[in-house]
Amino acid sequence: MAQLDIDVTKQEISGLPTEQVVKWAVAAFGRRVALACSFGAEDVVLVDMLARVTPRPRIFAIDTGRLNEETYEVMDRVRERYGVDIEAYFPDRQAVEKLERESGFYSFRKSLEARHECCGIRKVEPLGRALSDLDAWITGLRREQSVTRTNVEVVERDEAHGGIIKINPLIEWTGEQVWDYIKLHDVPYNALHDQGFPSIGCAPCTRAIQPGERPRAGRWWWENPEQKECGLHVGERKPGLAAWTALLT
Ligand code: SF4
Repeated sequence: MAQLDIDVTKQEISGLPTEQVVKWAVAAFGRRVALACSFGAEDVVLVDMLARVTPRPRIFAIDTGRLNEETYEVMDRVRERYGVDIEAYFPDRQAVEKLERESGFYSFRKSLEARHECCGIRKVEPLGRALSDLDAWITGLRREQSVTRTNVEVVERDEAHGGIIKINPLIEWTGEQVWDYIKLHDVPYNALHDQGFPSIGCAPCTRAIQPGERPRAGRWWWENPEQKECGLHVGERKPGLAAWTALLT
């Protein structure tokens, strides 16, 4: 699969219904593809679609240690509803202990670099481990979510993670489509969505938004919108550099 021609594949799957894109991913990569699931609305849609095309979908989650209680609750509801295992990845214990002992428990509020350091330890490093045995990963990215996602394609090569394939089946979807799907199929979703949280990350870095604000306005709300990525989806990182260091480029 390393030889997959991205341009040809993009043309082949671009016009397909979303469920067919998910089906293609499973057929093409088998057990070597997994959904990166933070259990937001988009991700639970993809869990539901995956469960329709394979009895054993691979789903992994980064448990940063700072998630909301509601996120853990929906994780368990998804496990039970679909009978799936969630492959949980936790940050390196020693790195978290060092961060908290030296910089405190809210270091990420002090500067962009400090926030990147925390995301690097709690998200990016575990993600690297999760992707290390995969040929492809599936994400719930949507283009309209953020200015940082306008150039994302339905399928792309993820040079930041060794050139594996990144599949973004919902890239063209609107928020309305996501919620129509959830309601139609009675998909379990994070209770925070009903409390004004369209986008949900770690508890201390996510707030509810006001009417008229952009969907990701509640993520790292103290930062410039163009900097609002956690490092999981940064496209310009250089292979070989420590992942969080590359976030600063
Ligand atoms: Fe740390 Fe906040 Fe990033 Fe979570 S979102 S890893 S708490 S900086």
